[in-house]
Parts: sequence; structure tokens; C-alpha cells
Amino acid sequence: MLIDGHGRTVNYLRVSVTERCNFRCQYCMPEKPFSWVPKENLLSFEELFLFMKVAMDEGVNKIRITGGEPLLREGLDTFIKMINDYQPDVDLALTTNAFLLPQTAQKLKDAGLKRVNISLDSLKPKVAHHIAQKDVLAQVLLGIDKALEVGLGVKINMVPMKGINDDEILDIIDYCIERKIKVRFIEYMENSHASKSIEGMHGREILEKVKERHTIKALGREGASPSFNYVLDNGYEFGLIDPHKHDFCENCNRIRLTAEGNLIPCLYFDEALSIASSVKKGDIQGAADVLAQVLKDKPKENRWIEGELEEGQEVSTRAFYETGG
Ligand code: SAM
Ligand code: SF4
Repeated sequence: MLIDGHGRTVNYLRVSVTERCNFRCQYCMPEKPFSWVPKENLLSFEELFLFMKVAMDEGVNKIRITGGEPLLREGLDTFIKMINDYQPDVDLALTTNAFLLPQTAQKLKDAGLKRVNISLDSLKPKVAHHIAQKDVLAQVLLGIDKALEVGLGVKINMVPMKGINDDEILDIIDYCIERKIKVRFIEYMENSHASKSIEGMHGREILEKVKERHTIKALGREGASPSFNYVLDNGYEFGLIDPHKHDFCENCNRIRLTAEGNLIPCLYFDEALSIASSVKKGDIQGAADVLAQVLKDKPKENRWIEGELEEGQEVSTRAFYETGG
């Protein structure tokens, strides 16, 4: 079992397989040119897998593949099969913008993928275009339908932003009710890579919008999930991911591995240790030692503090497209 320096059990590994993306979301990587190619020192799937085996042997039983856009990485289905063959019981999921799901969902399901979390920030073509800086909506909606058709579990992630998509919170709930899928609203997390003009919504403002049409009851956090759950009068459950809340980090159970082999203890901070040289040499003990050190160093909490950012206050410099969110 993996225990961090604050006594929390860590059983969840998020693995980013690429920093590249086919979208340029305003809150994530708005300014990278579409032709941008990141450093070509990605770990191979075999190298990533060598570390993942160490983590699974030590008690990791939940793995999420993310990015950048993970579906851009060739051979992803083979990677998923490697993980699934090694530990079929592992809760294996993928976070994606769904653009490439229409043509990949079946292959991924066949390889052993169980669930997908899909980013859907708007149901209006122009707004979706504004957010992703590309005409994406029709293809994303097809991707969601395909995932459901092939039997993948689907959850929707939405990042509400003032003056951009804050008027669509209720529409996204209706869309999800219709398809019997859960939506999780994610508070915008301030970071130095995002568009400066973005103003996120606080969890309480998101809930106020929902209350314009529904009565809601708080259910609480589900185990170590970052999502606080609520139920509507009609029985529909949704989640709110609220990293600005002071109790958010109390049960944190996760660490993150980047495509270049950096092992990151907390989404907020820049600190990371590399497993790259160990896995390139096939040095399992070396990788296990780095893992032990990262767990020891895992911070107690992030610094997305409650309330608005004050003038001049530093935001996180950690890029979401690198850590995978
Ligand atoms: N490309 C995939 C996608 O968009 O789902 C996976 C990677 S993306 C970095 C993972 C998650 O991070 C997405 O749900 C996205 O909405 C979220 N995200 C990115 N930047 C964020 C920010 N500044 N605040 C809150 N969530 C963010
Ligand atoms: Fe790409 Fe996902 Fe970042 Fe959007 S949130 S730019 S889809 S990595």
C-alpha cells in the first residue's frame, strides 16, 4: 500500500501520454500554435508501463489516461490492453475531448477501457468554437454518442466561465439527464497558461445557477473523489469539483505521471521527480525509490485559495496540458 507523508493512501495514478492537443482551450493552452510539437523525449508506452507495473504492484488500482489529448497518441489501444492484461481489475479510464472518439471508441473498449470522462463546455457551436478555438461541437457530440453506443461509461466535465458558458449550466444538465450520464462542474483553476481574460465561477455560483430551476440536496464527497456530489429534486446526481475549498485536499489519493516521465505529487505545484532515466535502464528499484520520495514530498494542500485572486497574487505555473488535469 502506498501512503504519503501526511498519512493519505495513494491508489490513483493519472498518466499523461502526450502534451499535444488538437484543441486550444482558453483555460488550458490558448496560445500554443496548432503546429507546435513538444520536445521529442516522450517515454515509450513500454517505459511508462514499467513504472505503472511498479505502482500497481504497490497498490494503485485506479488509472486514468490523459493528456494533452490522449487520443492523438498512436497505439493507445495497445497501451490500454497492456494495462488491462496485467491487472484486469484496475479501474481504467480515459479523459478526452472526444473529437477522435467516433473512430476510436470501439477499439478502446475492446482493448479493455471501461470509462471515459469527456470535456463538454458548451452545446452552442459558436461558443464551443470560441473556447476550443476550432469548430468542434458536432464531432464531440458524435464522440459522446459513440462512447455510449459501444458501452463505455461516460461522464461529462464542464468548466463554467463567466460571460462565456455560464448560461449553459442548466442546458448541460438537461443534456446529461437525457443520456443518463453524470456531469461534473469543474471550478476554473487559475494558471499562468490560460487566457488572461477568463473569469471562472466559484462552486457556490455554479450551484446558484442550478437552483434557478431545481432544488438540490448535498450528498457529500464520494470517498477520495475530488467531486462533491449533489442530487436534484428529480433524483439526478451531479458533481462539483471545487479545488478552492479548504477540505478538497484532505483525502487526496492521486499522483500524476507526465509523458516525459515526471512524477508529480500535486497538480498545483511545479515540483516533480523524474523516473525517465530509471525506466529507460529497466531499473525497477530506481523507479520505486523515486515513487517513495514523491509520496514523501506530496504537499498537504494546493494553494487555490477560497475566494477571488487578489491583485498581484501568484497563480499556479503548472500547465494542465502537461499534467493532464
Ligand atoms: N484533452 C482532454 C480533455 O480536455 O478532456 C484531457 C486533458 S485536459 C487537461 C483534462 C481536464 O482538465 C479537462 O476536463 C479540462 O476541462 C480540465 N482543465 C484544463 N484546464 C483547466 C483549468 N484551468 N481549470 C479547470 N480545469 C481545467
Ligand atoms: Fe486540449 Fe484538453 Fe487542454 Fe482543451 S483542456 S486544450 S482539449 S488538453
